[in-house]
Amino acid sequence: MASTHRLSRQHLVYSLDKTHPPALEIAPGDTVVLETYDARTGTIQRDEDLLDHPHPKGSNPATGPILVRGAEPGDALCVEIQQIELAPRGFLGVKAGMGLLGELAGDFATRIVPIEGDQARFGERLRFPIRPMVGVIGTAPAGEGVSTGFPGPHGGNMDNRYVAPGSRVYLPVNVPGALLGIGDVHGAMGDGEITYIGLEICAEVSARVELLKGKTLRRPLVETAEYWITTGDHPDTAQALRVAAEEMVRWMQERMQLSFAEAYMLMSAVVDVQICQCCGPGEFPVTTRAMISKALIP
Ligand code: CA
Ligand code: CA
Repeated sequence: MASTHRLSRQHLVYSLDKTHPPALEIAPGDTVVLETYDARTGTIQRDEDLLDHPHPKGSNPATGPILVRGAEPGDALCVEIQQIELAPRGFLGVKAGMGLLGELAGDFATRIVPIEGDQARFGERLRFPIRPMVGVIGTAPAGEGVSTGFPGPHGGNMDNRYVAPGSRVYLPVNVPGALLGIGDVHGAMGDGEITYIGLEICAEVSARVELLKGKTLRRPLVETAEYWITTGDHPDTAQALRVAAEEMVRWMQERMQLSFAEAYMLMSAVVDVQICQCCGPGEFPVTTRAMISKALIP
């Protein structure tokens, strides 16, 4: 029978790495309630707390790693995000010189953002809807560990706002046990995450983890109620868009039994290729997605 586990935010990693000892072992089909820390591990509590100190351990702690019994290289995990409960407040910020408009951002600034129901409050006058999502989700890579600041074929810091309640994230298993980590929840994040941080916030993420034996994936794939979404990343924006597009054309060929030319033509009519994160092209990898409506997929 499937069990529900809980993992506290004391179990943090700052990289996805096969050498990290598992914090929790689960069986396929189990549900995990993970407490996640904010991207600065609780060091930002007031508007006066600026992003001017390097984080002692790195940014984007992920809770985990979780060992999935029976997972072997060549399998895939299906992580269904069931629920994201946000802490009562998070923060937005500017790090001087950082982000897409870094040259205009001369000063550091922090804004604590209280969560009030399904709204976030920005100062006294402005409110905006929350849109909870998971920034970091991934398995341990086969080779060297990868910082949770970076994305890759193992997942990691994808900052894809469709990784949200109701979504399923399919991740390649690269090492025995998979070693899943989840963190960097955002209360809201616009595509691009242009300052380089979203509405960073502590959270509780409930996720059901399935194991798909023999389902080999090259990169993470996301399924929502409406879309299939392939993913990409690369330091160069055009190349990052290309990775997600190539994943999509291959996936359409496989799922819809199409030739390359058919999938490529169709893609130009019905697929949206979009930016997930472009806070510092050239410096940080740009992350991307390509989306197709599930109505078109048999
Ligand atoms: Ca992130
Ligand atoms: Ca973040």
